[in-house]
Amino acid sequence: EPFSEKLRVPEALTFDDVLLRPKESRVEPDAADVSTKVTKNVDLQIPILSAAMDTVTEAGMAIGMAREGGLGVLHRNMDTAAMEASIIQVKRADELVIRRENVVTASPDQTVDDVDAMMEQKGVSGAPVVDDDDTVLGIISGTDIRPYLEVGENDEVREAMTDEVVTAAEDVSARDALELMYDHKIERVPIVDDEDRLVGLLTMQGILARRENENAARDADGRLRVGAAVGPFEEERAVAADEAGADVLFIDCAHAHNLNVLDSAEAITESVDADVVVGNVGTKEAAEACVDFADGIKVGIGPGSICTTRVVSGAGMPQITAVAEVADVASQQDVPVIADGGIRYSGDAIKAIAAGADAVMLGSYFAGTDEAPGRVITMNGKKYKQYRGMGSVGAMQSGGGERYLKEENDEDYVPEGVEAATPYTGTLASELHQLVGGMQSGMGYVGAETIPGFKRRAEFVRVSAAGQTEGHPHDVMITDEAPNYSPNE
Ligand code: 5GP
Repeated sequence: EPFSEKLRVPEALTFDDVLLRPKESRVEPDAADVSTKVTKNVDLQIPILSAAMDTVTEAGMAIGMAREGGLGVLHRNMDTAAMEASIIQVKRADELVIRRENVVTASPDQTVDDVDAMMEQKGVSGAPVVDDDDTVLGIISGTDIRPYLEVGENDEVREAMTDEVVTAAEDVSARDALELMYDHKIERVPIVDDEDRLVGLLTMQGILARRENENAARDADGRLRVGAAVGPFEEERAVAADEAGADVLFIDCAHAHNLNVLDSAEAITESVDADVVVGNVGTKEAAEACVDFADGIKVGIGPGSICTTRVVSGAGMPQITAVAEVADVASQQDVPVIADGGIRYSGDAIKAIAAGADAVMLGSYFAGTDEAPGRVITMNGKKYKQYRGMGSVGAMQSGGGERYLKEENDEDYVPEGVEAATPYTGTLASELHQLVGGMQSGMGYVGAETIPGFKRRAEFVRVSAAGQTEGHPHDVMITDEAPNYSPNE
């Protein structure tokens, strides 16, 4: 075939090339339901994920995302032990009943001094007192050992503890537990089995935290959802993440259509209980290669804000076309699609969904929030946080090179990302409010009440260069930054 034939190229589009065609509607944006499926077995209240990057998602971000109804995906620039600890931290964050193995307990013959130090070290302000076979004898808290009660520091716990303990059975509801606490003016209720043996602990703090986040993404036990990124060949890490309680594992690879990566990803799906998202891909052929075993497929070859893949390698797929190609294949088998990277505005996010995605993943959008790792830095009087590509030199030096299928410990990196600073933006909740609110507006313009309905109903129009200019504020000097639009973007 003549080479010149190669230049009869198909068109591939990205966010700025298209707009949603407004349609007849009775949908008020507030009423638009944005709940979705991120994998075959995991639902979210909002279709949003935070990126598996070391300047975006550690436990704090994952907790914040899940409380708001989305999903944080822990990055993998940490060793397996740190990853397990992070997963456990998220799973425990809003746990209603703290399970026995996680309850800090005291023994009756410990000294008061000893228990005091132990509680301080574990960060709790009270502990059930149990004997050797876990029978609950009492409860000891800071108030029992205050000096004015004339308890000596070498006295035994059995003397200082409150021995009329209010306990509850395993099937107690949050409402009844709260009532017990108010009636008895206590803050924690040990949960016991028929023989008075400790099986868990309910705390006032836990119940109140749960009430505040009714929209949170939770597993069947009511614990927050969390995702974890694993390398394409890291089966052991995948099993460890699964056992630590991760809800979704993300095979974290810049080019998942590499056949070795796919083989390994398929093997990982067979050795874990958690759902497995395979990515990243950007074509229908790649989607066909993984759709039979993936629980979700993640799309994005080079759209990321800190990404240099396309300029470095000359390869990539404009994101709207990539999402649509993958969704054509995945939707046939009800495998959810996640659009990852390149989203700057809420409008981009809802366009990705119109193109066939079930959820979107963002890095730069969240990197400037309080919940992202790292501290706020000030330059020329403005506040920033660090944001860097996982394929940047800095991130690869701390262990992320495998994503780009590069040798580890290689000093001569060929990076596919840059290190940057991003404006500090305050709380995650306020960023998500703007993001989700903008997406709901999009649903209102199209007249769709749900994400699946929106995907079917949305149509695109093509935008010219003149249309793009028209679409941003123009011919004015912006005097006040909007919370969802900054003039120098
Ligand atoms: P953003 O939301 O900032 O536009 O894109 C975030 C996404 O970019 C991540 O979820 C990930 O898929 C991708 N990404 C992260 N680091 C790098 C990198 O160094 N190079 C490339 N090519 N992509 C990256």
